[in-house]
This record gives sequence, C-alpha cells and structure tokens, in this order.
Amino acid sequence: MPSVESPTVTPGSTHVPLASSVRSGPAADELARISEKVLSATRISFDEALWLHEHADILSLGLLADAVRRRKHPAPIVTYIVDRNINPTNVCITDCGFCAFYRRPNAEGAYVLSREEIVAKVEELVALGGRQVLMQGGHHPYLKTAWWCDLIADLRARFPEVNAHALSASEVDHLAKLDKRPVEHVIRDLAAAGWGSLPGAGAEMLVERVRKIIAPKKTPTDRWLDVHRKVHEAGLRSSATMLFGHVETAAERIEHLQRLRDLQDETGGFTAFACWTMQPDGVPEQHKYPKKATPGVYLRVQALSRIFLDNFDNIQTSYVTQGLEMAQITLRYGCNDFGGTMLEENVVSAAGCFHLAPIQKLERVIERAGFTPVQRNSWYGIVDPRRPELARGPKNPEEARVPNATQRSGSERGASARGAEARA
Ligand code: SF4
Repeated sequence: MPSVESPTVTPGSTHVPLASSVRSGPAADELARISEKVLSATRISFDEALWLHEHADILSLGLLADAVRRRKHPAPIVTYIVDRNINPTNVCITDCGFCAFYRRPNAEGAYVLSREEIVAKVEELVALGGRQVLMQGGHHPYLKTAWWCDLIADLRARFPEVNAHALSASEVDHLAKLDKRPVEHVIRDLAAAGWGSLPGAGAEMLVERVRKIIAPKKTPTDRWLDVHRKVHEAGLRSSATMLFGHVETAAERIEHLQRLRDLQDETGGFTAFACWTMQPDGVPEQHKYPKKATPGVYLRVQALSRIFLDNFDNIQTSYVTQGLEMAQITLRYGCNDFGGTMLEENVVSAAGCFHLAPIQKLERVIERAGFTPVQRNSWYGIVDPRRPELARGPKNPEEARVPNATQRSGSERGASARGAEARA
C-alpha cells in the first residue's frame, strides 16, 4: 500500500511538459499561455476552456488536470463511500428519451418498493458498514413529499449512521408541483425528516437547447440550478453532474460547467462534480443519439472539468458507466474520488451498462494506480475506521452545513469576486 504522507508536488514548482504534438507553432504558444494560468491557480475563462477542448492534446489536458488535482489533494489518497443505490419506484411521467429505466404508470414492470423491501436493502448495506443510501426514483404522479418524508424519517430512526442522499433537483421540483406549494417548503420538510444531502442527478446538460431535445418535460436549467441554490440556502450540501456525448456541442459542455461554477461561487454548497457519457443502447429514443462517446472524449471532458471547476474540491470518476480500467486512468486525469460502491444499480444497468465491483476489487484498482483508498462520508469527510489518523472533514450534515452569505469567510468571498472578474 503506498504511503499517504508525502505530497508529490510542491506548490509553485509544478511544471507540465507539453505533449509532443503541440510543441511548436501558435497552438503551442496558446497552450503554454493557458497552462501557465492553470498551474498558477488562475481561473480560466469560457473561451480558454473551449480552446482547450478543441485544440489541446489529451496528454496535456491530463497533465494539467493532474496538477490541479495534486494541488487540491496533495496526499496520494483516493476516496470512496460504501453506499447502496435504491430506486424506490421506476414509475415516471417525464418520458426522457435517453432513459431505459422508467415505466409509465400501470405499464408492465412498473413498481413501487414496499417499506419492508427498502428496509431490508438498507439492513444489507449496514451489515457491510455502509454510510449512505442513494435514493432516487421516477417522477411518480402520486408519491408526494409526505411519502418521502415518512420514508426518510423512518430510515433515519432505524439506521442513524446511514445518510439519506436522496432525490434529485428534478424530483424535488416535481414534488413541489404535486404538492402545489413553493419548493422551499418541500426542502424544509425533507430536511426536518432527516434528509442529509441532494445528489446531482437530473442535470443532464444545463443548456435549454439540449434539454428540449433529450428531456423536454424535465425541470429546466434555471429551475435545476435554483433548487440546488435553495438547498444550499437551507444549509444542505449537494453534488453536481453532467451527462454528455449526445446532442450537445463542445461549447454547450463548457456552458454547463460555467453555470455550475457560477452557482458554486454564489453558494459554495457543492461537494463534488461527476460526469459520464450517454449510454444509448436500448433507450426509448436511441435513433436520436450518436454512438457511445469514445474513451478519448470522456477523458478529455473529465480533465477539462477538473481544470475549469476551480471552486469544486472533488471530482468523481464514473466506473459504473466507464468501467474500472477507465476509472483507474481518470485518477491521473483530475479525479480524486471513486464515488460509491453502489451495491445495487438499476438506472444505467437498464441501458445495458453495468460495471459494479466488490469493495476489495475497487480498492485494488485504486492501489494499482498508485493511491491509497480511503472511505469517506456523504460530505467528503474521511471516516475510514482502518485509518483513524487520516480522519478529517465534516462528520455529519451539521458540520458540513453550508454557511450563509454573511457567514462565508472574507477569503471565500474574495475568491468568488476574483472569479467574477475573470469572467467579465
Ligand atoms: S431520467 Fe428520471 S425523470 Fe427522466 S424518464 Fe428516467 S426516471 Fe423519469
């Protein structure tokens, strides 16, 4: 097992050699100029990110992303969480054309799990030392906020050590519509029931042109962002995601990242970002989509997200969609987190893409990439019982609480202002 003590990069001494394909000519000059900004922790602009996306060679992108990762996480550790995915229902009325998981109400295969079934699944998780249950479902036409509050409160009472990392911005928005009341009230009730954090699902691509093609009935971009804003204002953390490799352009990928970076400047409430490529096989509107994006495209966007999202602490790989070997490579393309063990996964597996692995195998993959695997909680606090000397960060949602604007430190606000200057 590698040592976890010595940083591999001394701040200020990072030098990223340019890959051979761009060593000369105007492109090399531009790559060198943007690289200097990245290496000196200066925020890059939308246009610079787009230039990198279009022109930088993949090795240079990887080297830059790795330098950012090492600056933010000097110790050679990679985190993951022992969790379980539970989809309480697959009934959905939103009909996203890329989704092979959902069923219309009363369709064959439509289900709502009983409380006993859900409890039994969480018991299995607890037996393995799990800390998080990732609960998401379809937009069911009758399951309102009260149903979710009752479920979350029950699970919290039975399993206080397990965080309910539950719902998504689009599901919370759906609940507000079903309840016919403001989304803030839904958030307040869920939090009172013991809701601990909001996953980043449902973002897909935060660009209206794209959403109108792939998910026209789904929560629009501004609304998705506003639900996260209001969750942060309520003190809870959330994560962010991006589904790419379908009908979007390169500029739209950057636009998505820009929106997340802006909201993070505003609230500071995101814990992490994860992205993955569209899995087109077997989805209802497969004819709309190109073939699955290549590993090169995935790596390129993964690295770019680490470079561009300078105000996100953690970037998560996606071994469930990309496979363990690719996930191992992403640990040198900006990722510092392996996500969850996901003892069960139904959504991407419905699209014929399924790469779950036992915890021991997952750890072996991380070690072979040169890192020490350590367990974390939902708020990225390190809580590995095997390595108490590494314990740090928040232990619970109270310690992870998002400070409101007046409580945020001067340096954080300064960083946000510098970000605004860089965008101007
Ligand atoms: S992605 Fe979510 S909202 Fe869209 S159809 Fe599938 S379950 Fe429903």
